[in-house]
Amino acid sequence: MANSGDKTGWLPPFKGFCTDAIHAGQDPEQWKSKLVVPAITLATTFKQEAPGEHSGYEYSRSGNPTRTCLEKCVAAVEGGKHGLAFSSGLAATQTIINLLKAGDHVVTTDDVYGGTNRYFRRVASKFNLEFSFVDFTDLGNVEKAIKSNTKLLWVETPTNPTMKITDVRAVSEIAHRHEDILVVVDNTFMSSYFQRPLSLGADISYHSATKYMNGHTDVVMGLIIVNDDELRDKLYFLQYATGPTPSPFDCYMANRGLKTLALRMERHQQNAIEVAKFLEKHPLVEKVKYAGLPSHPQYEIMQKQATGCSGMLCFWMKGNLQQTKKFLSSMKIFILAESLGGFDSLAEHPAIMTHASVPPEQRAQLGIGDNFVRLSVGLEDVKDLIEDIDQALKIAVSS
Ligand SMILES: *Cc1c(COP(=O)(O)O)cnc(C)c1O
Repeated sequence: MANSGDKTGWLPPFKGFCTDAIHAGQDPEQWKSKLVVPAITLATTFKQEAPGEHSGYEYSRSGNPTRTCLEKCVAAVEGGKHGLAFSSGLAATQTIINLLKAGDHVVTTDDVYGGTNRYFRRVASKFNLEFSFVDFTDLGNVEKAIKSNTKLLWVETPTNPTMKITDVRAVSEIAHRHEDILVVVDNTFMSSYFQRPLSLGADISYHSATKYMNGHTDVVMGLIIVNDDELRDKLYFLQYATGPTPSPFDCYMANRGLKTLALRMERHQQNAIEVAKFLEKHPLVEKVKYAGLPSHPQYEIMQKQATGCSGMLCFWMKGNLQQTKKFLSSMKIFILAESLGGFDSLAEHPAIMTHASVPPEQRAQLGIGDNFVRLSVGLEDVKDLIEDIDQALKIAVSS
């Protein structure tokens, strides 16, 4: 294995994506018994030889060997220097926001993930942090929103659920004209395989690993990747000082999920393109948004900053609320459920489900209405997925 014996991790230059995903942080030499697959280290504390003289692990909140394997692997696949894992995506969000202090201002995408929106509006704002929600597809909005107390830009691209694309390079350039503004990119919808925000100028890449990075619909987790050592130290301090750490078992599972990320993402993309093309031609569908098709309004930006597109798409049915609900409950392979990015195809109604916490006026403005559906196209045979959508659309409009 290349780089074996490198006890500090898998540092640049990186190997190919799949080699990193399989080997980075997994060196058997780190274990006395030469484990090829990491151990699930459940111990909460670690023996010291003399007070303060230890193996690098003292207490499992501040460091755990299973977590270290995952964090090194995550950093490598994202093309970054440092990875940090958290008990959920939102725990990672909270940790990033904890870098700020009362009076600071954050500019964020108007169509940010519902849970992020709720955390910003209803929790973080209680601590005298200020948030502006603007449409990042118009860079003028971003420039106008920046004020003297702006300390962070929170970008999500593509956005959840309406798939708006932000030009990460351009936004990072605008932010970095100011000395102390950090750019965070929520990379959940793309995974490290298709998009690497740090290479586009962002300071922090963020994932809800609950989605593609783990990919098996069985772990809730958040990930942060950074290049800057000082920023890593600040985030690491917050990780152990506030305690949003994931369990060793979840770290094991997410580390395992990463091994097949490339294969999964290729298949998600292949299936989603076919589903999107099918929907585009369907007489019962008003409009489709898939960032991997030229019909997407920001397709060109996507082509510039990503190497592909995931299984996420959304569409507007020709129908009312009742018919849209009927469509969702008539599917037999797509499961009506929140979340995304797993091997299983899921469908949901954002206005009622994932984005119910977004204020109704804001939802209306974004087009998250009665006939709006979000799909997470999974890894099944695409022919079956298309048949499933078709039969459910027919049932829905004849009801
Ligand atoms: C799910 C999700 C989150 C939140 O992550 P959790 O793991 O659910 O806490 C953040 N951003 C996006 C885009 C998501 O889809």
